[in-house]
Amino acid sequence: MNEIKDIYQSLDRNKVVKIQAPATVANMVCGFDVLGFAVNEPYDEMQIRFSDTAGITIINDDEYNLPTEPEKNVAGAALLAMMEEMEENFGFEMTIRKNIKPGSGVGSSAASAAGAVVAANRLLNDRFDNETLVRFAMNGEKLASGVKHADNIAPCIYGGVTLIRSIFPLDIIALNAPTLYVTIVHPQIEVRTADARSILKQKVLLKDAIKQWGNIAGLVAGLLKSDYELIGRSLEDVLIEPVRSILIPGFDLIKQKSKEAGALGGGISGSGPSIFMLSRDEATAKNVEKEMHIIYEQLGLDHHTYVTTVNHSGVRFV
Ligand code: ADP
Repeated sequence: MNEIKDIYQSLDRNKVVKIQAPATVANMVCGFDVLGFAVNEPYDEMQIRFSDTAGITIINDDEYNLPTEPEKNVAGAALLAMMEEMEENFGFEMTIRKNIKPGSGVGSSAASAAGAVVAANRLLNDRFDNETLVRFAMNGEKLASGVKHADNIAPCIYGGVTLIRSIFPLDIIALNAPTLYVTIVHPQIEVRTADARSILKQKVLLKDAIKQWGNIAGLVAGLLKSDYELIGRSLEDVLIEPVRSILIPGFDLIKQKSKEAGALGGGISGSGPSIFMLSRDEATAKNVEKEMHIIYEQLGLDHHTYVTTVNHSGVRFV
């Protein structure tokens, strides 16, 4: 008991922690459900402090009208999971400014959930390790999509490219990666995660599985060896993309034109509708962006693009 009192007293009760929680790309082409990476833009901005009232107070500082009840907001759900494992009865006040549009497929829910627990952990003098924070934040993903998955949460917290070898038990491997530019296009259409999941085939052919695991191994090896040619060759998904891409207008053309413009490859970000492409340098990434604009302008589809890089730090303190 004394120990808890000591920990409690060593905390700065007036501290304010401000963070930036990055967008993330899950389902990295062949790495469906197991490979994801963080990007430097866009990111959510959050601020957290202890509050005098018990429980969690959420203040939304954006246009999205997300719920402020902690159990209905992914940031609250993640923090509640953390609070369940603490003996003290703290109150937290959290202000969230979302720059990552919910439902865009670039880890909007993960940024809020991961950001909340990383920021709260700093208030608590970094009591929990990263893997435990991922475990808490997955409760936010469960709220958003019905399943606990970590391929957005893990890169958001660890930064870089992460391999989630297993969820139960959690086994996260942060992979070294060379400089990679990322072009993302977000067509302003809605792809419901439930629909994107329900159209997937539950059985795969052995010959396709062999191709897929060859590509996953090739992609991981390519990242670790900074071998761009190998990365490019391995960015191929024979299982999920052929089924899911029909939900995204212009997908095949965007991929073809991006590769002609020099992109290494890419695919659907998360469960869509965003599409991402990887390039070795900024000039190529910007040419890819131009191709994306041309295609969506021809289709008359509102869209938003980002040219950014892989983020190697995860959630940032500011
Ligand atoms: P993304 O793939 O961009 O993360 P999801 O569809 O997984 O998008 O998650 C968005 C869903 O989670 C929306 O239904 C949204 O209303 C809900 N949600 C609840 N709280 C938040 C939050 N703080 N940030 C983002 N989405 C939230």
